[in-house]
Amino acid sequence: MFWRKKVLTSIIELLERKKKILRDLEDKLGADSRRRASEDHHAKRRPRPCGMTIHTGVGCSYSCAYCYIYDMGFTSNVKPYPLKPEEIVYALSLNPYVVPERTLAAYGSVTEPFQPETSNTAVEYMREIWKWLHLPSQVSTKAVLTDELITGIKSGDPDTNVLVTVITVSNRRLEPKAPDPIERIESASKALKKGLKVSLFIRPIIPGITDTELNRILEISADKGIKSAVLGSLRVTRRILRNLENCGADRKEIERRLLKTPRNNKQVEVKTSDLKNMIKKYAEEIGMKVFRAACEANTYFHGRYCAICSMGPCNTEMKKKSMLEESDVKETLEYLNVPYIDVKVNDNFIKIKVKKPKVNKYTMSIITTVTYRKVILLE
Ligand code: SF4
Ligand code: SF4
Repeated sequence: MFWRKKVLTSIIELLERKKKILRDLEDKLGADSRRRASEDHHAKRRPRPCGMTIHTGVGCSYSCAYCYIYDMGFTSNVKPYPLKPEEIVYALSLNPYVVPERTLAAYGSVTEPFQPETSNTAVEYMREIWKWLHLPSQVSTKAVLTDELITGIKSGDPDTNVLVTVITVSNRRLEPKAPDPIERIESASKALKKGLKVSLFIRPIIPGITDTELNRILEISADKGIKSAVLGSLRVTRRILRNLENCGADRKEIERRLLKTPRNNKQVEVKTSDLKNMIKKYAEEIGMKVFRAACEANTYFHGRYCAICSMGPCNTEMKKKSMLEESDVKETLEYLNVPYIDVKVNDNFIKIKVKKPKVNKYTMSIITTVTYRKVILLE
């Protein structure tokens, strides 16, 4: 009974807490800071399935041949993201889709967060966002994790899932300005020993390269104590295809796997499910846990069951901990002023029979985020 009460109040508590965070930050920040934050895209963007991507810098100097940020208008000139740490927290708190403790935070999606120019900003963002919002954190990096960086990351979410990218250990042309992959793995091992939740990030899987090196990559990583891996596909534009060919990749093999022909700067996914299965098989043989998506790893290391998308449910061993009852959802709907007729809940779905066919999309998104379940509206 005590446990039920705890779950019941926690949903509403979280939404109340968000209001308080906003009030506290409004008292702290000047008008200019509030305006800058409210105009920023972190205040408006809907989180992606992997969570809310948080930009710690603009541009990236690592110049990876497979990188799509250069097709999105970013350059190799790097600058820290222009918001101050408390401004980014305020922007996220203004975002109607973000819920404290529940929205997954993904640092490093359109840049390497730990470049010399951006490392301080990245660490300060991670620390401040954790302090106020407690978002389960994940960061992807190709940087060498120094002692200072490890301490910095741990000053935020102590369970931060650090994804250390390695897709080749021999072809340096693919990542000409990123640190040596062996050094990355060695520093990841150090981070593990200091308590960070490190996973090998095998993304993007480049057909003809990553699959031929997979045994070596996995064995070196396992040998250094890394016990999990996240796999991810390659997406190409015409420019990336040319780059990869220039770096020795088998262009024909990549083209054979394309879902459609890339045009202009549009990214097209390269089918790699067979390669993922191959990597998974060997990784599991040598004792590694394999995640199919970055969010699966983030939820796992934060002890969360999740059934939001069709790839799930994920982390079913944690299901019991996140049991939900109809009354939890009903109370939340009442709190959010959503008129409903009936609510049905199971491990994967929440079905809500609503009085009005149109229910605010933010409301549905909030219930999904808070409960980690799909919401289906019935009229
Ligand atoms: S480190 Fe990431 S963002 Fe930077 S160039 Fe490489 S793939 Fe792009
Ligand atoms: S169900 Fe799994 S893959 Fe889907 S959003 Fe949740 S953690 Fe990610």
